[in-house]
Amino acid sequence: MKAARMPDVIDAAQELEIRLRDRAVRSVCNRAAKSGRSICVDCEGQIEAARLVAMPSACRCIECQKTYEGNA
Ligand SMILES: [Zn+2]
Repeated sequence: MKAARMPDVIDAAQELEIRLRDRAVRSVCNRAAKSGRSICVDCEGQIEAARLVAMPSACRCIECQKTYEGNA
C-alpha cells in the first residue's frame, strides 16, 4: 500500500481551506472596521468597546472568539 502520504494531502487541503476562510473573515473585518461598525462577524452582535480598545482588529465578540479558538 502506498497510501502513507495521504495525511499530507489532507493536511495541505485543510490548511488551504483555513487560509482561505481566514482571508474571507479578514476582509469582512476590514469592511466592518472601515464603516466604523463593531459588529461580530459570527453572531452580528455588538463587540464590546473595551475589547476593541484592547484589540482593534477584533471582529468577534468574546463569546464567539472563545468558540472560534476552541474549535481551532
Ligand atoms: Zn459574536
